[in-house]
Amino acid sequence: MSELPNIVVTGASGRMGQMLIRTVEASGKARVSAAVERSGHAWVGQDLGEVMGVAKGVVVTDDPLEAFATAQAVLDFTAPAATVEFAALAAQARLVHVIGTTGMEAEHLARLEPAARHAVIVRAGNMSLGVNLLVELTRKVAQALDADWDVEVIEAHHRHKVDAPSGTALMLGEAAAEGRGVSLAEVSDRGRDGITGARDRGHIGFSAIRGGDIVGEHDVLFAGEGERVILRHVATDRAIFARGALKAALWGQGKAPGEYSMADVLGF
Ligand code: NAP
Repeated sequence: MSELPNIVVTGASGRMGQMLIRTVEASGKARVSAAVERSGHAWVGQDLGEVMGVAKGVVVTDDPLEAFATAQAVLDFTAPAATVEFAALAAQARLVHVIGTTGMEAEHLARLEPAARHAVIVRAGNMSLGVNLLVELTRKVAQALDADWDVEVIEAHHRHKVDAPSGTALMLGEAAAEGRGVSLAEVSDRGRDGITGARDRGHIGFSAIRGGDIVGEHDVLFAGEGERVILRHVATDRAIFARGALKAALWGQGKAPGEYSMADVLGF
């Protein structure tokens, strides 16, 4: 019997689900004890060893409660409606729930609150070390430069992404707003089109590019008179998110219940 922590991966067949399974299995620090897909999905009842060539003996289930019962953590990169259901079950089972799912609206976030009273939740729109560093840099630069410098967050992702702006772009916008001491909700400019009028001083703009197989690129542009500062992160491999998620799952073991961020995990 292995001493390694048991980890459940939800949305096992997804782009991130498969990457999480491979990363956990290759890490030597934990093992995939269960994989969850929704009822009716072609992978349900299949052995991961057969469909992916790793984690032989783990049969994909559509019963998260059963999957969570013997695990220490769940890595969840699915969809907001699924994530809030998983949060309630993870809280019952007292699992560390690592949430990478983006596009969470206020109604979804409100449903995480009761779960976080019973279990550790680590949630981040981006789990990579580099992006979390970029968030800190954005906060500092925004603090140093006044509203004469226009802030624009520009992101690019693959053609399959369903939400915009990306979770990472919103994290960067929040950091810029915090650095400026303003509320993002009050200064956010999203989706400009047509006769929009001149740019409002102090606003933070977002632009989203979608195409091909772009893993994820984020620029934070500070545009002043006669000069520009650009902070940039380019992801070339989804493994960076999976490694961050595994790190968060291991970090969360034994922590007090509550909702944490990757900044907590990375000690920023
Ligand atoms: P994807 O390829 O579409 O995978 C999503 C997976 O979740 C699919 O297998 C989907 O199954 C499954 N799913 C949806 N609802 C479910 C449910 N109720 N029960 C079980 N499984 C369910 O998408 P992806 O590119 O992997 O991205 C997934 C999420 O992670 C997105 O929100 C994305 O923005 C986010 N993400 C976050 C980070 C980060 O670092 N935080 C990095 C990359 C991606 P079906 O195919 O049946 O719908």
